[in-house]
Amino acid sequence: MEKKNKLSLAGQIFVALILAVIVGLLMQNNADFANDYIKPFGTIFLNLIKFIVCPIVLFSIMAGVVSMKDIKKVGAIGGMTVAYYLVTTAFAITIGLVFGNIFKGGFPALSTTDLSYEAAEPTSFMDTIVNIFPSNFVKPLLDANMLQIIVMALLLGFAVILIADVAPDANERIINDINDLSNVFMRVMEMILKLSPIGVFCLLCPVIAKNGPMILGSLAMVLLTAYICYIVHAVVVYSLTVKLIANISPIHFFKKMAPAMMFAFSSASSVGTLPLNMECVTNLGASKEVSSFVLPLGATINMDGTAIYQGVCAIFIAACYGIDLSMSQMLTIVLTATLASIGTAGVPGAGMVMLAMVLQSVGLPVEGIALVAGVDRIFDMGRTVLNITGDASCAVCISKIHEMK
Ligand code: ASP
Repeated sequence: MEKKNKLSLAGQIFVALILAVIVGLLMQNNADFANDYIKPFGTIFLNLIKFIVCPIVLFSIMAGVVSMKDIKKVGAIGGMTVAYYLVTTAFAITIGLVFGNIFKGGFPALSTTDLSYEAAEPTSFMDTIVNIFPSNFVKPLLDANMLQIIVMALLLGFAVILIADVAPDANERIINDINDLSNVFMRVMEMILKLSPIGVFCLLCPVIAKNGPMILGSLAMVLLTAYICYIVHAVVVYSLTVKLIANISPIHFFKKMAPAMMFAFSSASSVGTLPLNMECVTNLGASKEVSSFVLPLGATINMDGTAIYQGVCAIFIAACYGIDLSMSQMLTIVLTATLASIGTAGVPGAGMVMLAMVLQSVGLPVEGIALVAGVDRIFDMGRTVLNITGDASCAVCISKIHEMK
């Protein structure tokens, strides 16, 4: 019975996606109407997701940590997770650079003379590290600062494990409370997710109505290159890891992931997709213990799609300025884009801000971002799909390794 419901939710999201494209294309002359009267319902839906995502992350990570009953075990899983994320992201950016160079000849040579782009002050690597640690107990929740919430959850979870020796009764009570609260928040999330098809329609339709096929225009080749890389990375890297490590057939993996992927495509937010991603990964058989820890972390620090986008855009922008990137510059891009992906928030448009850091690291003009800014949303939809699929692939792999121990 339950399975039937889940299947039908995926089907509903798919229908909503197709309808959004059709209605969006038909409404191109009424884009303002779509923006004023359809988008707000998408915003309500996103607001509800944002409302639930902080307690979900806090309690699900705490529940995951306390269920492991051993700080060393949490450390081992955390280490493997971060290693998986860093290696796959480095692969992603390399794929972006390789395909960027192959297709470079087809990129349009856009004029760069009257470009202006106000780059936000990029945070340095050290500041990124410092910003992981909260200085206040409630502010991380108020700001929805996911990395800080993760640190809070880890510290609280560790403390619960540590009191087991001195106060076993209290330990048991608190563990029960954490699990109960986690279940309550998951329930709220389930209610919100039932609205996904409406949310998907209302978020995507105005984007299509506003941008239409015209916007692709001169940048079609750059977009196509990025999408080819997204697909190659998913098909090659994730298929291999889920098959070799988790022993799951790639077709089965992508089929089960479809609802979360479609949702990521329409919302362009990894963090917003987190609740649905958790559900898909559970359906794939990953242990709750592992996925409740690996997925929130991934939604915050693992961005393979964003890394690909940064590689392709760096090559495109360099080409527009008539600059040929040297091998050492490309290696610098691999490094900075991997680090930039850690600092990228899982919200729409965040990757474009971090592109400034990547361009600066190799001395490319930051104003070049203006060349791709107009179509950022189209890049973003695809890169978010890859970002969350990468998190899920990690969850099933680490879950398998954990099971075997
Ligand atoms: N929108 C992306 C995400 O949520 C981040 C980005 O802009 O690259 O994963």
